[in-house]
Amino acid sequence: MHHKPPRHRTAGQEYKHLYSDKRWHGARGIRLQALKRDLYTCQRCGCSLVTTNRHHPQAAVVNHKTPHKGDPALFFDLNNCESACKSCHDALIQREEARGYSIGSDLTGRPTDPSHPWNW
Ligand SMILES: [Zn+2]
Repeated sequence: MHHKPPRHRTAGQEYKHLYSDKRWHGARGIRLQALKRDLYTCQRCGCSLVTTNRHHPQAAVVNHKTPHKGDPALFFDLNNCESACKSCHDALIQREEARGYSIGSDLTGRPTDPSHPWNW
């Protein structure tokens, strides 16, 4: 078992505690609050994030409009969070390439980007 070496500096690894925080991914966490506030609608293209299996809408991504860079004030700010679909989020990822990973995660709270520090 060997770990994939970080492609960039290890910034981001320190955010792990934020994404694993119940205030983010919990049943009353910011992620679900953002999705409910946005009525499970992509704030970028307006598509529905509710799939046929509403308990597993994997396409739903909650994005931080202002990169939190580990700042809990930004990370846990509902007003800084927006719901987006996978394809819109993928477009965001293009812009985030310089950062090396995406800030999105699916409904389980797991990052959708395999290169996210969580998945190292
Ligand atoms: Zn969209």
